[in-house]
Amino acid sequence: MTTVSLKIESGATQSTPPKGFRSWLAFWEAQRGKHAAECEAFGCDREVTEAGRVIKVGKEDGVYILPLCDRCSSQANTRIFKAWDKDLVMLTAEPEAVT
Ligand SMILES: [Zn+2]
Repeated sequence: MTTVSLKIESGATQSTPPKGFRSWLAFWEAQRGKHAAECEAFGCDREVTEAGRVIKVGKEDGVYILPLCDRCSSQANTRIFKAWDKDLVMLTAEPEAVT
């Protein structure tokens, strides 16, 4: 399995979750089909509090969603950490409003 180096995008969990989901964490769980219990950052086993927005270091091809604890998700742009590539859910462009 592949690991990736990540950092938190600033403004991690400020945006509104997708329509039909009460949180970004619920969105991630729906995409992955499993319950997130522990923080996905390697070396951290704290309880997940929310899904954060992360970007890949050195390969910034988009924004991904990853379940994180309150401590990890608050470290915007200050820390690089590793996680499993397969646990990332890519966030596509914000859906445009239907007119
Ligand atoms: Zn953590």
